[in-house]
Amino acid sequence: MTEEMIDFLAKLVAIPSISADREMAGESLKTANFIKDNLEKLGAEVKLVDNLMKDKNPLILARLGNDPAKKTIICYSHYDVQPASKDDGWDTEPFEMTVKDDGYMYGRGTNDDKGPITALYFALKELLEVGELPVNIGFLYEGEEESSSGGFEETVEANLDFYGDVDGIIVLDTSWFGTETPSMDYGFRGIVYVTIKITGPNADQHSGLVGGTIREPMTDLSYLFTKLIDLEGKILIDGFYDNVKEMSDAEAALYENVEFDMDAHKKFLGVDRMISDDPKKVLMNGWRNPCLSIHGVQGAFYGPGAKTVVPGTVIGKVSVRIVPDQQPAEIADKFVKYIQSEFDKLNSPNKLIVESIGEGDWWYGDVDNFLFKAGDRAILEYWKIKPSYARSGGSIPIIPFMEKIFKAPAIGLGVGQSTDGAHSQNERLRIKNLLGAKEVLKLMLQEIAR
Ligand code: MN
Ligand code: MN
Repeated sequence: MTEEMIDFLAKLVAIPSISADREMAGESLKTANFIKDNLEKLGAEVKLVDNLMKDKNPLILARLGNDPAKKTIICYSHYDVQPASKDDGWDTEPFEMTVKDDGYMYGRGTNDDKGPITALYFALKELLEVGELPVNIGFLYEGEEESSSGGFEETVEANLDFYGDVDGIIVLDTSWFGTETPSMDYGFRGIVYVTIKITGPNADQHSGLVGGTIREPMTDLSYLFTKLIDLEGKILIDGFYDNVKEMSDAEAALYENVEFDMDAHKKFLGVDRMISDDPKKVLMNGWRNPCLSIHGVQGAFYGPGAKTVVPGTVIGKVSVRIVPDQQPAEIADKFVKYIQSEFDKLNSPNKLIVESIGEGDWWYGDVDNFLFKAGDRAILEYWKIKPSYARSGGSIPIIPFMEKIFKAPAIGLGVGQSTDGAHSQNERLRIKNLLGAKEVLKLMLQEIAR
């Protein structure tokens, strides 16, 4: 079976389903059809559904089993991948999967998400070979995740009836937090992205001509940047922390069993010091506390050399990652009002436009529910290791969306390792992890039925 699995994954990797490139839409369709044909071989009812957003790849909706006495579990993954080319510095062709002696399979999508799709497929195939499935399975595969899941929400909403009542959602789109301890994910942060546009002169100017005579937009923006955050990472926006959930003892206990070597992490980043010296505090800052990042300034001079320009308009790009129970709209509102009031204090003749250009919700799963209990037991049984409960500082807003629309809880089941290079050169997946995910899924679905 191992050979068959590797071969299946290699075939998936060979179709470059790059959602960021519309010229590759045909390849995405080919990938979707490959998955559809195979799910049909398992006996599933499969629909390729046109994405309701224009110029976006279709969704794959499928159902396997229709027994009202059994639980129905939706499994989510995405069949699109990040762009990749050998010229980017890959050691092998990214779309020709290479199995090396180190026990890893190299190729774009091996970790994210074609490996997880393969693991689930073979888990179900093997369960069916020896009997019935312990639960009804709903498949929900999209082809636009790497391009912000365009059209996902409206298309799923329009096809909600397809699945009937749903009891749980398994998200197969995450990796272990470390390399040796299997992990399950129970949370992501949300995001609010704000632009701060300051306009002064109607065109860029020469600093030798206007310098000293006008208030420069870049000076105003620099002042505003210093009002956002202190050097210890505390966000200075009025009322920002009002709704941040306090940590319970049960939540704090989840940090006891996380595989995290802070010295190795510092080395990996190339930094001498983290904001805190306490590894647990660093994890909490990355997972359960909000943060603010200043990403860049559009319109400002950034090239090499010493150009003496005074930019006429600059646009600062800032985002905050938000956490339970902050609401995206509430934080966007506080952020915008705060920048306006700080700008007023600058008594500037320049014009300010500050607005939120993107908002996404956080996800916080319930680690005491049946999905995590089943995952915990399955991982312990197969790997003989107590799993880590991990969160991510990033944002996958479709998880809270699916929980809401299916009225069912979600879990993230990690498949690959943190070092797999999901969006990077030489993306890979360990064969051991592919087999492990297949076995854990089989056990987990049986546990869920119990
Ligand atoms: Mn992914
Ligand atoms: Mn990805």
